[in-house]
Amino acid sequence: MAPRTRVDSFELDHTAVRAPYVRLAARYSGPAGDVVTKFDLRLVQPNVQEIATAPLHTIEHLLAGYLRDHLDGPVLVDASPMGCRTGFYLTVLGAPSEPSVLLAAVRALEAVRDHDGPIPGCSPERCGNWRDHSLHGAKAWAAEVLARGFVVQPTVALPDLDPNA
Ligand SMILES: [Zn+2]
Repeated sequence: MAPRTRVDSFELDHTAVRAPYVRLAARYSGPAGDVVTKFDLRLVQPNVQEIATAPLHTIEHLLAGYLRDHLDGPVLVDASPMGCRTGFYLTVLGAPSEPSVLLAAVRALEAVRDHDGPIPGCSPERCGNWRDHSLHGAKAWAAEVLARGFVVQPTVALPDLDPNA
């Protein structure tokens, strides 16, 4: 049996995007009027490259602080790695524009590239797989994706082949 709920990210044509990019993925309004916005922060080209788990994990630990430092105003609820290991999902309280999130992501990744010192939260008490980290790899990936240049990626939807799918 298939899930009954269709998922927005499965409607994106992953062959028609150009990474690295920021994409507005979804915006939700709660009953009290609060707005929550979800962005894709895609670091590498889908189905062409993927980031190994150790550097991706270290980027996650560093982005947790650096993205909060650089998002001016909206509250970052969560920045989680995509299972395909090509980027991160960003969940934000509020409705920041794509260019403002792009700028914050670039600033945060510059901080990852230039990070000096221990990896935040890298201990058996604070992390679920503390041995699976690579600071060297995280810094190298941050430098590489920054050199390629981030864009705002509009959603390119897949053609709706089967309305019941
Ligand atoms: Zn961890």
